[in-house]
Amino acid sequence: MGKHPKYSFVVPAYNEEQNINVLHERIKSLMKNINNNWEIIFVNDGSKDNTLDILKKLAKENENVKYIDLSRNFGHQAALTAGYKHAKGDAIISLDCDLQDPPEVISQMIEKWKEGYKIVYARRTNYRKDNIIKRLGSKFYYKFLGRFTRIDIPKNVGDFRLIDKKVLEQINNMSEHSRYLRGMVAWTGFSHAFVDYKRPDRKNGKSAYSFAKLVSLGMDGMFNFSVLPLRLGFVLGVFSIITGLGLLLYQLLDVIFTGAYYHLYKWLTVVLFIFMGFVFILIWIIGEYIGKIYDESRNRPYYIINEKENFDEDINV
Ligand code: UDP
Ligand code: MG
Repeated sequence: MGKHPKYSFVVPAYNEEQNINVLHERIKSLMKNINNNWEIIFVNDGSKDNTLDILKKLAKENENVKYIDLSRNFGHQAALTAGYKHAKGDAIISLDCDLQDPPEVISQMIEKWKEGYKIVYARRTNYRKDNIIKRLGSKFYYKFLGRFTRIDIPKNVGDFRLIDKKVLEQINNMSEHSRYLRGMVAWTGFSHAFVDYKRPDRKNGKSAYSFAKLVSLGMDGMFNFSVLPLRLGFVLGVFSIITGLGLLLYQLLDVIFTGAYYHLYKWLTVVLFIFMGFVFILIWIIGEYIGKIYDESRNRPYYIINEKENFDEDINV
């Protein structure tokens, strides 16, 4: 058995045969100047190329290279979760396998961690170039998410980050199945810092994040952390009732003061607006309850303690 590592790198890998050795070399040469006590955990997420063979070989030759081979493709967030569960370091750095997350940034992240920050996000200052739809999508998405979330999920950060083992323990204890890790990390609320960097384009292979996968990740972020889907029913309901009442009042006054005649369908339309409004509001109320059930079912801790002092040993809550 190896010794207790100080740093853990967690790297999900899906069809990354061209990148694994290069990434390993780059981390090795980076860590030479920082600390030689580290481990790197690759998670093979059901790759269809030679990723697994390369990992096997690398792990045989290097004690601090570890790998987990998932039985099939479970997706980036699940792969990261598997890596997190196996990480033993005091600081855990998650990064992509495709060399888009440059090592220079890692050394800055470690500096911030040494200053005492428990979470260090790498924040990209440029937008993705690979695909105009993805680029516009992500720009729009972060604007939107920022406006409607309960907790502050930092903008323009992906899953390239450093977390302290205190944070890792919390994440590993969260039992929810739809995992939007960047939101979960932010939710813990520990002190955080940013390191800005320009994200280069992927060099080898192509992005495994299809547009569909990106949308599904975005949905997880939206539905797990935002109140917008819930509020929509309320907003629609109020809008519909106000519109209905306004029209009704207008027609009534028109009839009373000018003696105008309105067809039955016009009265029905107005009544429809009002009734639909009530239905929307009912749906919203049900939605609020479902939201509460969802919150309960996730079984998150009520609070997370950062530090405490002068308590008796036997109080351990
Ligand atoms: N990845 C994974 N499973 C997947 C898709 C991606 O483990 O189903 C890994 C991939 O190997 C990479 C990281 O997740 O290390 C980010 O993927 P990608 O580079 O395709 O995303 P992008 O950089 O385009 O956001
Ligand atoms: Mg990438």
